[in-house]
Order: sequence, then C-alpha cells, then structure tokens
Amino acid sequence: MKRKTSLIISFLVLAFLVVFGSIKGTDFFSGQSAAQAAPALKLHFLDVGQADCILAQLPNGQIMLIDAGNNDDVSTIITYLKKQNVKKINYLVATHPHEDHIGSMDSVIRSFQIGKVYMPKATTTTKTFKDLLLAIKAKNLKINTAKAGTVILNQGNLKINFVAPCGSNYDDLNNWSAVTRIQYGNNSFLLTGDAEALSEQEILSSGANLKANVLKVGYHGSSSSTSPAFLKAVAPKYAVISMGTGNKYGHPHKVTLTKLTNAKVQVYRTDQDGTIIAASDGKNITIKKLGSTIKPRAPNTGNTIAPAVPVAPTPSSKNYIGNKNSKKFHLPSCSTLPAEQNRVYFKTREEAIKAGYVPCKVCKP
Ligand SMILES: [Zn+2]
Ligand SMILES: [Zn+2]
Repeated sequence: MKRKTSLIISFLVLAFLVVFGSIKGTDFFSGQSAAQAAPALKLHFLDVGQADCILAQLPNGQIMLIDAGNNDDVSTIITYLKKQNVKKINYLVATHPHEDHIGSMDSVIRSFQIGKVYMPKATTTTKTFKDLLLAIKAKNLKINTAKAGTVILNQGNLKINFVAPCGSNYDDLNNWSAVTRIQYGNNSFLLTGDAEALSEQEILSSGANLKANVLKVGYHGSSSSTSPAFLKAVAPKYAVISMGTGNKYGHPHKVTLTKLTNAKVQVYRTDQDGTIIAASDGKNITIKKLGSTIKPRAPNTGNTIAPAVPVAPTPSSKNYIGNKNSKKFHLPSCSTLPAEQNRVYFKTREEAIKAGYVPCKVCKP
C-alpha cells in the first residue's frame, strides 16, 4: 500500500515536470523567436465607411490613432482596438473637426488611456465637436496644436511629424487637416486627412519631405485633393482610399483614380477591400486586405439617398451656388456661401457635379 502511494506520487511529480517543462520550453522558444524578428510598424486603415480611422502600432510598442470615424462607428472602432490589445493610445490625432473624422473620438477617449492629443487650431459649432472637447476636458487632457513642423516622435529610425496645416486661416475645415508623415527606416507613410489642393500647395511650398511609399489619399479620393504636383512629390507606390460604398459625394472621383493609375500607384479602397493593413519592417512594406471582417459592408454613412433635394418650386438658374475657389457647391440657404465675386451658379445638382464641384458638407445639397 505504501509503495503504491509513493509510486502514484512519483508519477504525479513526473507528470508535473513534463507539463511544466514543456510550458517553459514554449515560452523560452517563442521569446527567442520574437526577439529575432524586426519590430514592425503596422498601419490599420479601418473600414469605417465614408470616414477615416487609422490605427498605427509603432515598432516601439506605442499606439497612435489618427481620426475616429463617424458617430455610429463607436463599436466598430472600440472592438477593433481591443482586439489588437490596445490599452493606451499614446498619440491621438484629430485631423480636423468634421464628423467623419472625430465622430467616435469622444467614446475612444473614454474607453482607453490617452497620452497626447493633437488637433489643429480649428473649431466648429457641431455637437460632435463639443462632445469631443467635453471628453478631453473630462479626462483633464491637454490639446497639443497639430501644425506643420511639429515632431510627434523621433526615436532611432522612427520619426513622426506633421507637414500640415501650414497656415492659420482657412475657409474650409478640410484644409485645416493635420497631415502626418511617418518614417520608419526606409519606409514612409503620408496620412493626409481631408487636405485639399490649397493645403497640398502649401505643403509643397514648405519644402517638407513628402516622399512616401504609402499615401492615404486626401478627402476620400475627391477631385479637390491629390493635385498632380503633390502626387508627383509624394510618389507613392501604394495608395489607400478610405470611403463608403455609394456615398453621396461620388467619392472616389474618377479623375483621382485615373491620376493614381497613370502614376502606376497600386490603389486599395476600404469600400472594396475592407480594413487594410500595411506592415513595414523598415525595409519592405506588405499590404493585407481584411475583406469584410469588421462589418458585412462598409457603412454608407453620408449616403442619405436624398429624395430629390427640395428646391424652389419654380426652377431658376440659381438653384445651386458654387465657390470658384473651393470648388464646392451650396444651396442658396447655406450658411457658408462664398463671397459674391467667387460665385458661380448652377441650375441642377448634376450640372454642378459635371463641372467638377463637390457638395458642401454643411448644407448637403
Ligand atoms: Zn472626411
Ligand atoms: Zn472633412
């Protein structure tokens, strides 16, 4: 009986050693292999429909989030970040105060530890923007100004800086967009928010280094961004367009796609490819399409299939007012109409779009 007991004990001890030993072995092995691989930079262009949200996992282990989709993307974004094991967002960038960029940022701030917040010195009166400011205030966070020349991080072969906004006065919130450049070893990324031709021109004039292997195409592929000189200076190999299917802006515009194709840029689109992940080891970039793993389909936020805009019952030739400078068109009732001398009139919506004008985001004509 005594002998049997000691045999059982010996067996248990042996079994314990085998199990424990093998666990230790696995830990040891995986720890070693992880140390051998070059730490990667990973950029996730989340499929948030007609909006922007870019998660950057930096090679130093830190996290950066640029924009946070629309108001109704809260669960998509938070679920995705948690799945990536994000606990703290070291650098949070709100490129500009349009809803499709800051919509869920208040909830993101409440859901994660937040390091530094960067925003351009632009304001708007929307509830979405107020919600963001309240969330920032509630956590006692400070707002750092996002502007050209500001360096976010400069550590070894990793450098992150803003190349825009260059100025301090813009009619259009899009041109306030914080434009971020990430350089990791020989690879670089340019994330342009909704910056349009005017800002692109200023960035070019500033002489900043714009070269990038991957370009996040400005303003969801609108024809008012990606001007030829800018595209030439960036000279990307890959382009990512963040947008939703059937959006009412007609993004991405055909001219933009043609420009990219002619420049032999490989284009990825969140409406077709779902979330897109670009990974870099500092030498090479690999791009992965997640398809529709987050949502069955990119939401068509901004696609309100407006039942033929209620216009004046007697059709006049001044139903839509275009801005010669910004190439946007408005309803005559819009609060952001251009000065008289900069106006051009259209009879129909189609006429305005044909002329290369895009709908104003305020009056949504
Ligand atoms: Zn936008
Ligand atoms: Zn915008």
